[in-house]
Amino acid sequence: MIETSTAVWENCLKIIKDNVPTQSFKTWFEPIKALKLDGSVLTIQVPSLFFYEWLEEHYVNLLRKTIKHELGADARLEYNIVVDNATANSKAQTINIPASPNGELKNPSVPIPVTVPSSIRNPFVIPGLKKINIDSQLNSKYSFDNFVEGDCNRLARSAGFAVANKPGGTSFNPLMIYGPTGLGKTHLVHAIGGAIKDRFPEKQVLYVNAEKFTQQFVESMKNNTINDFKNFYQLIDVLILDDVHNFAGKEKTQDIFFHIFNELHQTNKQIVLTSDKPPKDLIGVEDRLLSRFKWGLTADLQIPDFETRMAILYKKMQLDGIELPQDVVEYVAHNIDSNMRDLEGAMVSLLAHSTLNKKEIDLPLAKQMLKNFIKNSSKEISIEYIQKLVCEYFEVPVELLKSQTRKREIVQARQISMYLAKSHTKSSLKSIGMHFGGRDHSTVIYACQTVEDLIDTDKKFRAYVADIQKKLKLS
Ligand code: ADP
Ligand code: MG
Repeated sequence: MIETSTAVWENCLKIIKDNVPTQSFKTWFEPIKALKLDGSVLTIQVPSLFFYEWLEEHYVNLLRKTIKHELGADARLEYNIVVDNATANSKAQTINIPASPNGELKNPSVPIPVTVPSSIRNPFVIPGLKKINIDSQLNSKYSFDNFVEGDCNRLARSAGFAVANKPGGTSFNPLMIYGPTGLGKTHLVHAIGGAIKDRFPEKQVLYVNAEKFTQQFVESMKNNTINDFKNFYQLIDVLILDDVHNFAGKEKTQDIFFHIFNELHQTNKQIVLTSDKPPKDLIGVEDRLLSRFKWGLTADLQIPDFETRMAILYKKMQLDGIELPQDVVEYVAHNIDSNMRDLEGAMVSLLAHSTLNKKEIDLPLAKQMLKNFIKNSSKEISIEYIQKLVCEYFEVPVELLKSQTRKREIVQARQISMYLAKSHTKSSLKSIGMHFGGRDHSTVIYACQTVEDLIDTDKKFRAYVADIQKKLKLS
């Protein structure tokens, strides 16, 4: 019986199918066509150069064993690659590459002629322009000018600024900014991208969310345009990838990003990343990627303190040309402390309400309106607010709570504040300690115990605490 290439390949596929996950089989093996069988040399056609590289990198051993199983010890595999051609109408060219003989990975004996297609299909490419020009996807609303600086973001902001002045030319490559949601990561990276575009208009800057990157990649696998996908990303001078925690568990996407990252990094292109966790806590992201994330600078965004939150609200009011009474702004800033999106949201709903009802917003109205908002937001009462109330009550300056002072009335205010922070907020002992000049968690435990003991034994003290608690609940 004369074996045809198709029959041999069909047999190979049966073996392969049992040895790779279904999704990988569909992605990487179904699109392959058997072309030719010449003695013990089987030629298969793959849709792109990237496809070939991928097979060689991930499946070379499996392919080699399978082919030998089917065609004997002398068996060889050759690839026929469909290369995108510069002119859209001309037929696809093919190049022939033998499979790597020893399974030690690529580096084929025949040099690979890499043709970069001039017509890259990608949603971000603005069509019709001679030179490839990328729509940066930047939002000009988010600039450095309207990003309020505070202790909470100083490092990230100044690193971002340095990168914007010298993209690819600082040791902050990649620059990774991390922190919980709503603290300004997206804002900051848009600001970086925008500033680079202003200073270096010729640079190709791209902002993309990791989720969108993944969707694009999956789409390109489906359409056999992975080559385009990869080529496109290699054109970029400044790649801003937002929310990389979305890569968790997505191995193929991580794999291609790993390649893109390496290419860009090697050619001194700037990479900016954001994540909701520090690299060490990004479970489901491969170590080789995580280790690269740490090559440059990792900077976190922390929860803004009360003053910074006030400044953010004032900045927003100034941008929108609106005014709210000082006590209302303070009230909002006191009560919403962990997510700046909620902070702005609260202000927007106050404004909407005031416009609709043609009514000035005063504090009682604001309290009334934000009741649900604040209950639903992550915390009802902030540690800073507790500190402020306690210090007002005992008429001592707030700063002293954070100092080393052991004066009796300060110690008392400090311990009561810690106790109330423990019982009225969801903050951890560690975080409470941080709000008191970086004291450690055992100090907080000690304070809570002391206060509890005093409540039990000292009538006057108990009355103080009850009084302050009443005030807290009224706010
Ligand atoms: P993240 O990406 O970390 O979830 P965003 O960048 O989307 O957060 O920020 C949420 C909102 O808070 C945005 O409207 C942003 O402009 C605003 N914001 C956060 N931090 C600041 C800041 N320091 N100065 C001004 N606005 C801020
Ligand atoms: Mg974001």
